Amino acid sequence: MDLHPNPARDNAQLSLGRTKARKTTVIVGGVAGGASCAARLRRNDEHADIIVLERGPYVSFANCGLPYYLSGVIEKEEDLLLSSPAFFRRRFDIDVRTGHDAVAIDRAARTIRVQPGDGPGYELAYDALVLSPGAQPIRPPLPGIDLPGIFSLRTVPDGNRIKQWIARHKARRAVVVGGGFIGLEVAENLHHLGIQVVLVELGDQVMSTIDREMAQPMSDAIRAAGVDLRLGTRVSSFEPGARGRGLKVGFADGSRIDTDLVVMAVGVRPENSLAQAAGLALGPLGHISVDARMQTSDPYIYAVGDAVEVLCAITGQRTAVPLAGPANRQGRLVADVIAGKRRGFRGVQGTAVCGAFGLTLASTGLNERSLRELRIPHEVVYAHPRNHVGYYPGARTISMKLLYDATDGRVLGAQAVGQDGVERRIDVIAMAIQMGASVFDLEEAELCYAPQYGAAKDPVNMVGMIAANAMRGDLPIAHWSDVGHDAASILDVRTREEVEKDRLPYGMHIPIDELRARLHELPVDRPIHVVCGVGMRAYNAICLLRQRGYRASLLPGGFSTWSHLNPPEQRPAQG
Ligand code: FAD
Repeated sequence: MDLHPNPARDNAQLSLGRTKARKTTVIVGGVAGGASCAARLRRNDEHADIIVLERGPYVSFANCGLPYYLSGVIEKEEDLLLSSPAFFRRRFDIDVRTGHDAVAIDRAARTIRVQPGDGPGYELAYDALVLSPGAQPIRPPLPGIDLPGIFSLRTVPDGNRIKQWIARHKARRAVVVGGGFIGLEVAENLHHLGIQVVLVELGDQVMSTIDREMAQPMSDAIRAAGVDLRLGTRVSSFEPGARGRGLKVGFADGSRIDTDLVVMAVGVRPENSLAQAAGLALGPLGHISVDARMQTSDPYIYAVGDAVEVLCAITGQRTAVPLAGPANRQGRLVADVIAGKRRGFRGVQGTAVCGAFGLTLASTGLNERSLRELRIPHEVVYAHPRNHVGYYPGARTISMKLLYDATDGRVLGAQAVGQDGVERRIDVIAMAIQMGASVFDLEEAELCYAPQYGAAKDPVNMVGMIAANAMRGDLPIAHWSDVGHDAASILDVRTREEVEKDRLPYGMHIPIDELRARLHELPVDRPIHVVCGVGMRAYNAICLLRQRGYRASLLPGGFSTWSHLNPPEQRPAQG
């Protein structure tokens, strides 16, 4: 079996290529988008010539598993290798060429120049070209960024370099720069190895795709695990450590720390060099522009995955979501388009999940920050239900946030954080968003229930019910941000014991069971914003108050949401 390219044959094919009945598709990039496209293309067309060019040593490897390979949770390199050129040849008759860099496209001739690692370069003719070149980790141009011991994590060789460095230098300290999902996963896995981790993030929260109060429990969990999380901190330089051992990481405030290694996880930029040099249209941030068929500005060239910008399914605006799901779906879709099927990409909505330090954080759709920036009218509710009924052992709280269009109830986004059952709820809402569903659909959703799995009113139903009550005018919703510290406006209906333990620094307190007897203490001439632990008792209080002529509204999510919005270090001083 000839797995190696034969430049003579390829050049012969170049001259003869397009007179043959067999169509040749060349795919650049053999991992998420590229490998999906190749396999689907073969399923669609038994007679196509399919060539995959991959500059790295592996095809179809599990880059999402790399953080867990660092710690040994995924034990062996082979566990990350989902396929091989030999498998692609045997099962699909696909010609996968690893170690082959696609270096230039001649659009007029419809050829691509290929550079094998050590052999002579050659040209390949294509009838269709698919670009799935992925993304590059961003390496900010800081002084010392190229020093040994400063890594990024994108490929299996990257993972091996980090593992070897840790072993060779008996690393005990690490700095991880970037508090996104890769930074968190790397920090957790280094921590798992017993390494003392400093996690540095420029913003004032981890996981910037999620609203700050929803990411707060993750920050708390990171710190509780003993990781030194430094928010609002800018790395400014790297220097060799004393006596040539390790590194010194400098910060913008002038401070420095010693470490044994640094992992940069500050985001990715699209790998667009081929596309740019070929004059394909690019978006404002350098992503390859494509239409709904993933066709670039050249009708013979398609592009998928981290390198492209596509439409946001909710706003219709151009956006980029560098995640494996979109890359795989787009690769599959392009294979259908090339096979002549009518397909169109639905757009992305940014559904994502990150598990670290015992918590799961997941989201779908737009966050509140984006909705505000885009001036999309929206409403917000929170809930803190259990993942399953409280009477079955092991119930855990899931904190949920639902964002919806205040005019028609269409669901715009959701976020959740907790220990169990988080991703299931976000997946349900992700599908609801894709189907254009409203909060009334979430209220009515018929979901799995048995005591160990959920509740007869599932957390998805719960957020839907709160929002549907608000939409129908049964439950006016107040915003924590609007309430300010107006002591007179807030009514806390929790028990005395709860209030003694966790006091709101403002507002009045009447336990719900005393409310009917103490109504005379409440103002009739101004709004009352009612709060309890998570919202349920406040809802009952509001029903009571409104029927008795008071202007009561809900502070959604109760004290739990307040405590996420106001982490201890930012709380107003107690009077
Ligand atoms: P890739 O899968 O990166 O494939 C691109 C390939 O193209 C690369 O192998 C590259 O070598 C090759 N290539 C580039 N240029 C050329 C060229 N000129 N010639 C030949 N070959 C070329 N996503 C999730 O949804 N969930 C996760 O949990 C998750 N975890 C991740 C963890 C890590 C550490 C990383 C790095 C990524 C993670 N991702 C995750 C993101 C996900 O891996 C990417 O979104 C996805 O792989 C993108 O697919 P792609 O085909 O666009 O690019």
